[in-house]
Amino acid sequence: MTPYLIELKNICYSYHTLHGETKALDRISFGVKNGEFVAIVGPSGCGKSTLLSIIAGLIKPEEGTIAVNKPDGSLGYPKIGYMLQKDHLLDWRSVYQNMLLGLEIRKELTQENLDYVDELLKEYGLGAFRDKRPFELSGGMKQRAALIRTLALKPELLLLDEAFSALDYQTRLIVSADICNIIRSTGKTMIMITHDLSEAVRLADRIIVLTARPATVKAEVPIHLTINEPSPLAAMNAPEFNDYFNLIWKELNDENSFK
Ligand code: ADP
Repeated sequence: MTPYLIELKNICYSYHTLHGETKALDRISFGVKNGEFVAIVGPSGCGKSTLLSIIAGLIKPEEGTIAVNKPDGSLGYPKIGYMLQKDHLLDWRSVYQNMLLGLEIRKELTQENLDYVDELLKEYGLGAFRDKRPFELSGGMKQRAALIRTLALKPELLLLDEAFSALDYQTRLIVSADICNIIRSTGKTMIMITHDLSEAVRLADRIIVLTARPATVKAEVPIHLTINEPSPLAAMNAPEFNDYFNLIWKELNDENSFK
């Protein structure tokens, strides 16, 4: 039996337009273990978003399979949560009403789910902001609110699509660590695509490096940073940080990657 929560085998995908075919993914294979945090990096336009859309079930691969092995033995695809670059909070609704949005759409506003949202609000420091509007929150708090809205749906697999790239550098360092620490504390499985190598090395358990389009898996690099506390500064000061950064930089900029 596969030890992975999800395992992709030989995934291929091409876009077909009036102007021809664009092959985006070519025989992509990798697995993600339950509770693991995998970052996917690759040159711009190589197929990262396409890959994430396939994992999310938004588009079907042309070839290849995705095997699922849920730890509780239940059948079916893992419940997916998505975090995007923009928080997509609605300014005319309070923070609390924003958090209920997904549950409302799914018609899952049960007392149990409402209590869970209250718990999340308190646990992740937004209790005092419950009745504020999103425009009254800082960029970091908005991302927290967006995360809670996602967690309210109890996803089993979280997909982060350049989730922090709209933030300025310093905020991004803090918010990305904050959000990832929260997700880690919930034990959820995460797949993040990012163009920021430092972010991938700071946050992920393993990095998958893709080649230029059509994307193939160029390298898989497990990350082990010696750190005492889960902060961005501690990660960047870890003795292994530079070696990982240089290794992934080299893999990405290897002339063979740019076909
Ligand atoms: P990345 O996320 O790595 O920047 P994408 O997955 O967005 O890459 O895109 C991979 C390739 O597929 C790009 O060359 C892009 O132009 C092309 N592509 C993406 N979406 C479409 C589409 N809907 N129709 C045609 N081509 C597309």
